[in-house]
Order: sequence, then structure tokens, then C-alpha cells
Amino acid sequence: MKKSNSNRIGFGDISIQNHRLNVGGCDAAELAKEYGTPLYVFDVNYAVKTAAAYVDVLKREYPNSTVCYASKAFCCKAIYRIIAPLGLGADVVSGGELYTALSGGMNPKKIYFHGNNKTEEEVAFAIKSSVGYFVVDSLHELELIEKLAYSPQNVLFRVNPGVEAHTHRFIQTTTPDSKFGFSIADGTAESVILSARKYKNVNFVGIACHIGSQIFEPQSFEIAIDKMTDFIVKLNSLGVQVERLDLGGGFGVHYIEEDRPLTPEQYMANSARYLATAVKRRGITAPHLIFEPGRSIVGEAGLTLYTVGAIKTIKDLKTYVAVDGGMFDNPRVSLYDARYTFVVADRADEKGDKVYSIAGKCCESGDILADGITLPELKSGDVLATFTTGAYHYSMASNYNRNAIPPVVAVKDGKSAYMVKPQTYEDLIRNDVIPLFLEDVK
Ligand SMILES: *Cc1c(COP(=O)(O)O)cnc(C)c1O
Repeated sequence: MKKSNSNRIGFGDISIQNHRLNVGGCDAAELAKEYGTPLYVFDVNYAVKTAAAYVDVLKREYPNSTVCYASKAFCCKAIYRIIAPLGLGADVVSGGELYTALSGGMNPKKIYFHGNNKTEEEVAFAIKSSVGYFVVDSLHELELIEKLAYSPQNVLFRVNPGVEAHTHRFIQTTTPDSKFGFSIADGTAESVILSARKYKNVNFVGIACHIGSQIFEPQSFEIAIDKMTDFIVKLNSLGVQVERLDLGGGFGVHYIEEDRPLTPEQYMANSARYLATAVKRRGITAPHLIFEPGRSIVGEAGLTLYTVGAIKTIKDLKTYVAVDGGMFDNPRVSLYDARYTFVVADRADEKGDKVYSIAGKCCESGDILADGITLPELKSGDVLATFTTGAYHYSMASNYNRNAIPPVVAVKDGKSAYMVKPQTYEDLIRNDVIPLFLEDVK
């Protein structure tokens, strides 16, 4: 476990007090009782601490910079209320994320609008909202901006530096075969950037990349920085100045024992120093640096609470412990074979010697949250907690099987309150319509 702090257990600032799990000064089992399960819990102080640390590190190591929060990790109004005052900008990838960020009070000038297929409506909405930067990912998008804008829009181009970050293959986004970005290697990136000159509403300001997610090796970022700064040299030689360099996100966090992330500050400080040196060595103008961490700001701020229901032993094979959540609140296991750590909320320090598979309640055999993990003997009614669910859980949740998406409760200094309210059955049918012509159906 990575933290030495006595009763901290290495997942964000979650601790064990009197054998019981404690988050943000609140007892996890008591939260389950008060709010019900399944429940997402979000430790505000941890997210603030991590986001502020990123801002501080860049201020020190590379002052000409912006930290943008990657909205897709966890998007709801309150998160912008938490990060905007710390000086962060935001990256959004859809009209919905943009709308939420603006509703949460994010300054549009500090928003970077990503996405490989922004629709005409989304581009128009972003222009109308005075979004600071478009990160363009296709010629189609350039044409849309040219057509819809009434003044020049700041544009970065998403390029593919061809770095293979060592992480799960489904999360990689910049391998040579990627739907994201223009390839540097085959000359496409350079030619689209040169072609941008002919658009009167396109103001080229820089280049962006994102080499993957849940990355543990700082070298992955160093390779990306080398490739991106080499590309800046190339662009300069063609008479194109690069004011902004966006290196994306991807810093890894702690899910299971084997994960050994550096601290967020270490990743970012290392990359910032490496960039400063890379720029000097090449004799290019130091660009404004943008980092876009998502998972590493909110991931370990979150945990999910479930209640154990049915327990079923398959003779000589395994014991399934079914919980009241599943792939509708955590699709990452079925999507990426993601692995998690579980504990019992009111005896969290008990390692146990029973081997269980944790099953979700959806009608899919693949709806398993953990396979073959060791826990103390469980009974129906026990509250299970699983860690590092602050990123890509609520934001990826669905209403599959018409399960309600669990609410998100913020905790801070012993206080708790909703940041996302529970869905009711009425919410689930809110947009359902029975077409009038169905009256003819006999
Ligand atoms: C997903 C994404 C991020 C955030 O990645 P994390 O792994 O959550 O830090 C940042 N920038 C871009 C362009 C992304 O697609």
C-alpha cells in the first residue's frame, strides 16, 4: 500500500477507524444506511488536494501552463464548483459535457473542446458559448467551424505521435491505428495544419495529443514530448508557430495491490521538466503547456458501496456473492477486464480467507465485478466497499435493465450531501412516450 500514514489504506485518503471504513470524516457503513445502496461516495478534499497539487507543480516547474480537468472522468455540476476556484480549466468532449461545465460555473474561455466527431449542433453551441479552444480532429470539423463561426476560433489539432503507452489495449488511443488524431509519421498532421491557413475563421494555436490512460511509466510521456517537440521544429521550418502544446491526461491510479502509481505531482513535475529541457535543446519557443488529468484527480476520491444480497455456491467451483449494483454502475470490468479491491465496510481491516466472485444484478453472465477475490465470510446484508470508483463510473453508468443510476454523495470534514440525486422510477420513464398511432394496434 502506497501511503505510510497509519490508518490510511492507499486509496485516496480513505482510512480505517475502529475496523470501520471512513471517508471524508464519514463512516462508510453509516452512509450506506442513510443514503441506501448502491451508492457512489465522493471525497471532496481529496479531489481538491490532487487538483491543487497539479496547479502548484506546474506553477513551479512550468509557469506558462494550464491544468484542465478532463470532464469525461466524472461530469456533474458540482465538480466544476470544486475545481474552477483552484484555477483549473476543463476539457469537454460533447455538447452535454460543455453544457454541464458551463452550468457548473466553468469559464468558457478555459474550456478545450475535444472529440473526434463533433456534430454541427455541438460546434454551433460551442461557438455561441465562446469556448476558448477547439481541439480539431477532422477536416469535416474544420469546415464546420469555418461555416458556423462569425470570427476566428482558436484551434489546436489533435495529432497522433504514435506512442504506445503501456496500459490495457482498449484504453490506448494513439497507436498507429486510432480513430483519434492526425498521424505525424505519415505526414497527414503537417498537411492538415498547413491547409488550415486557408480558413478565415480558423486561428491555429497549437497541437494536442493524448497517449492513453492509466499509464504508470513516466517514460511514455517523455517519448511523447520528444515526438511532439520534434514536430514543432518541423512546423516552425514550414513557417508555422506553435503557441500551445496539449499533452492530454493519462496518469495512473491505484486500483489493486499490483498498481504502484507515482504521485500525480511526480508524473507532472517529471513531464514539465522534461518538456522545458526538450524545448531548450531544440531552440524552439516554449509553448503554453496544457495537461488534462481526469482519472488521477477524481479516481481515488470515489468509492462505491453495495449491499450483499444472494449468495450462491456452485459445488466444487466458486461462490457468487451478488450485490445490488453491477455493470450499470461499473461497466469497466466487462469493458476492460478492470480489477478492483473490495472490503467489508464495518470490518474493513479483516483480510479473510474466503474466495468469492462478486456478481452484479444485471441479466448478463458477464456482469461480474470481481472474480476470485479473498474476503472475510460474507452474509446477506453486509455492506461491501470498492475503491477508486470516482473516475469513469458515474460518467459511464447506464440504466441497463432499468436499474436506477446510483446517486453520488459528496463527503467533506464529516459532512455529507448529494452531488447527484437518486433517480426514481418516475425518472426512468420520464422521456417514454406511447405514440398515438399505437392506439390502432390491436
Ligand atoms: C480521456 C482524456 C483525458 C483524461 O485522461 P485520464 O486518463 O482520465 O487522465 C485527457 N485528455 C483527452 C484528450 C482525453 O481523451
